[in-house]
Amino acid sequence: MTEQQWVTVLGASGSIGQSTLDVIARNSERYKVYALTANTQLEKLLEQCLIHQPVYAVMRDEDSAERLRQRLKAQGSDIKVLGGEEALCQVAAAPQVDAVMAAIVGAAGLPPTLAAVKEGKRVLLANKEALVMAGRLFMDAVKIHKAVLLPIDSEHNAIYQCMPVDYSRGLANVGVRKILLTASGGPFRRTPLTELAAVTPEQACAHPNWSMGRKISVDSATMMNKGLELVEACWLFDARPEQVEVVIHPQSIIHSMVEYLDGSVLAQLGNPDMRTPIAYGLAWPERIDSGVSSLDIIATARLDFEAPDLQRFPCLRLASEAISAGGTAMVTLNAANEVAVEAFLQRQLGFTQIADVVEGVLSQATNTEPCDLAVVEKADQDARVIAQEIIAQQTVNT
Ligand code: NDP
Ligand code: MG
Repeated sequence: MTEQQWVTVLGASGSIGQSTLDVIARNSERYKVYALTANTQLEKLLEQCLIHQPVYAVMRDEDSAERLRQRLKAQGSDIKVLGGEEALCQVAAAPQVDAVMAAIVGAAGLPPTLAAVKEGKRVLLANKEALVMAGRLFMDAVKIHKAVLLPIDSEHNAIYQCMPVDYSRGLANVGVRKILLTASGGPFRRTPLTELAAVTPEQACAHPNWSMGRKISVDSATMMNKGLELVEACWLFDARPEQVEVVIHPQSIIHSMVEYLDGSVLAQLGNPDMRTPIAYGLAWPERIDSGVSSLDIIATARLDFEAPDLQRFPCLRLASEAISAGGTAMVTLNAANEVAVEAFLQRQLGFTQIADVVEGVLSQATNTEPCDLAVVEKADQDARVIAQEIIAQQTVNT
C-alpha cells in the first residue's frame, strides 16, 4: 500500500474545495487532510473540520478565525486555528505537506499557491487567476523548485491528458499542431443580444452544465473565463495564442482536444463533474475513484461545435487583445474583471457593463513589464482603483 499523503486544501469551503474533500473522503486510505482554509464562511469550515479532522484550519479573515477557534474549542477539538494571509502561505508550504489544492478564487490565491510551488509541492491548480496574473514568474518558479503542477481546470486537465508526456520539449518538437479549447458558451449563448443588459446575477450563475462558484459562473456567462483559460493554456503548455483555438461545444462532454501534425485529434471526454480532474490531479500518474458516474454516450447522442461570436462575448475579444498587448495587460484585465463581476453580483452594474468596465480600465492603465511580484501587485491594485472609479461614474450616470 502507498504511504498516505498529506493534503492542504486552499479554498476548502468553495465549490472546488468541497469536491476535493469528497474525492479525498472516498480515498481516505491514500490521503489525509493537513489544512483546510476559507475566507469568512465559518459554519462551512467548522463542519468540514469536524468531518475531516485537519491539523490546521485557516481563515483569511482574522475575526472569523477567532470565532472558529472558540467554536472548535467548545467542541473539545484540538485542531489549530490560524488567521490571515501569511497563515495561508504557511499551511501551503509546510514541510509535511505533499499536495496542495489551490482553489481560492481570484488574485487572493496567488501568494499561497506560489508559496506551495516554491516548496516544490505537488500543486493542483484550480486558481487560474494566479497563472493569468503571474504566468512567467509562476512557471519559472515551478521549474526552479521542481514543483509538480497539475492543471485542475477541466479543459487544461483534458489537454494535459491528451498531450505526450514530454510536451515540455516544445509543442512543435513533440508533433502537436494546435490545442482546441472547448467552451460551453454559458447560459446566454442563444439569448437575444437586446436582452443581455437586463440579465440578473441569478440568471448568470445558472450554468447549463456545471455547478461552480459565483465568480467563475459569471465569467462563463461573459466568456471572460475562456479568455483567462486561453492565457492559462499558453503558460501551461508553452503555446502561442494562435496555437489555441476556442471552440464552443454546448454539451460540455469533450473537455478539450489536442491536434497532432499527422491529423490525429485526441480528446478527453467525461461527465461535467470537477471530481474527475481533481481525482486525476491527486493520484497522477495513477487513477482513483472520483465518484463520477459513467458517461452514457448513447444518452449524450450528439456533440455540437461552433465558433464563438465575439460581438456577443466582447470579454473574449478583450482577453485576446490583452494577450497580444503583453506586459501587465492581463493583470489589469483580471483585476478589472474581478471588481466588475463583484459589482454585478452586488447589483451595482449591469451584465453588459462588465466588458465596458474592463475595456475602460485597459485603456487607462499603464502597461509595464511584469518583472517581479511587486510590479504584478501594483498593476493589480491600480486596475482595481480605476475599475472602482469607472463603476462609481457609471452608477452616477444611471
Ligand atoms: P468558490 O467561490 O466556490 O470558492 C472560493 C474559495 O476561496 C472559498 O473557499 C472562499 O472562502 C475562498 N476565498 C475567497 N476569497 C478569499 C480570500 N480573499 N482569501 C482567501 N480565501 C478566499 O470558487 P470555486 O470553487 O468555484 O473556484 C475556485 C477557483 O477554481 C477559481 O479560481 C476558479 O476560477 C477555479 N475553477 C473553478 C471551477 C469550478 O467548477 N468551480 C472550474 C475550474 C476552475 P469563503 O467560502 O469563506 O468565501
Ligand atoms: Mg474551465
